[in-house]
Amino acid sequence: MKVDLLVIGASFAGLACARAAALAGLSVAVVEKKARAGAKLHTTGIIVRDAVDSVPWLAEVPPTLVRRIEGVRLYAPNMRHVDLHSPGYYFWATDTPALLDWMSDSAQASGVALHPGTLFEHAVLVQGRWQVPLGDGHVLRASYLVGADGPHSRVAKVLGLSRNEHFLFGVEHEYRGARMASNFLHCFVDRRLARGYIGWALDGVGVGQVGLARRLNPHLDSVDRAALRLDPLLDKISQVVGTGDAPPVAVRAGMIPCGGVLASVGRERALLVGDAAGMVSPVTAGGIHYALQHGARAGEAIAAFIRGEADDPSRWFVRSYPGFRLKRALRWSFDRFQSDWVFDRLLSTAALRRAAQWVYFQRKAGPLPEG
Ligand SMILES: Cc1cc2nc3c(=O)[nH]c(=O)nc-3n(C[C@H](O)[C@H](O)[C@H](O)COP(=O)(O)OP(=O)(O)OC[C@H]3O[C@@H](n4cnc5c(N)ncnc54)[C@H](O)[C@@H]3O)c2cc1C
Repeated sequence: MKVDLLVIGASFAGLACARAAALAGLSVAVVEKKARAGAKLHTTGIIVRDAVDSVPWLAEVPPTLVRRIEGVRLYAPNMRHVDLHSPGYYFWATDTPALLDWMSDSAQASGVALHPGTLFEHAVLVQGRWQVPLGDGHVLRASYLVGADGPHSRVAKVLGLSRNEHFLFGVEHEYRGARMASNFLHCFVDRRLARGYIGWALDGVGVGQVGLARRLNPHLDSVDRAALRLDPLLDKISQVVGTGDAPPVAVRAGMIPCGGVLASVGRERALLVGDAAGMVSPVTAGGIHYALQHGARAGEAIAAFIRGEADDPSRWFVRSYPGFRLKRALRWSFDRFQSDWVFDRLLSTAALRRAAQWVYFQRKAGPLPEG
């Protein structure tokens, strides 16, 4: 089988890239190891307003799959809180499994050929064409290869590109009938429970989601993972988030790259996008916006190259990837100087609220609330 573009990974980055390339006239195949795009997810699935504004595809998402949340309630380690809003700003909580299944259907309706249940293991470039064995004896031949296969990209390894080394590790439980103030994303700062990141809770689409992530110590990897339990957080926040006695209906967990975009994300006729390229905010750990936005642009750039209208995107397109300079600096300081004592004392100051508004709402920060 021959295609113009082969994408590895049917999640946000891979589906956005494949769909954009197919809409631009390329023949496109996507190889995905899971049986469905929406199966076995690791993400909370919050989508920021900047993504809704800048990714036209999101305007087509069925309204039943998303719920608008307009504020952030930020809790200090001593559980005092401050409410943050920015006029017109909101997040989408999503029914993420259904959203990814919808994206997968939408990409296929645009002409993408999806190969679910197929593991990518190897690729060789022979006379300007990638040859990729599919495991069933068939070999797929493609003029361009995109690795959208997540934080531990096999494509990056096989192609000798850079690989993520710095991670947060996150775990999330979903509960039916959870109780909390529903118009907020609740964020809990606590160095003991969530070193280097936060705990969170939100009233999602049909379920309450409660999770936390912490910085992984590369030398104590397995010990740290075992330490990442939700019970201490659930106990601590029980006054503001009630999950009831029933066990969670789903558990999600996974690694989040937090070192910024990698040094080498492309080579002749091949590119990495999304988490595979380290394209995740080192501060907020949000990656869906970047995966969708840069995934789609990569698809368009590859189409221009295949049509002979542009140079190989691995030489120029990758320069448009976000640098995250300031966010990497913030990550560096947070890793070294995070202090519950300081946070408890600073929560009510204008400086901390302004910084928090910048983190959550970016340039959309409006006037600070009174109090
Ligand atoms: C606990 C947690 C919570 C998060 N919450 C948020 C959030 O609320 N908002 C946000 O913006 N970001 C969040 N993130 C980050 C976000 O999930 C990622 O940035 C985003 O999923 C990246 O999309 P992607 O398409 O690059 O990669 P992924 O979503 O990781 O998808 C990679 C795909 O490739 C497939 N694959 C992997 N290897 C192979 C192979 N060898 N062969 C075939 N297929 C393969 C996988 O099955 C998968 O479908 C969270 C992450 C975690 C772990």
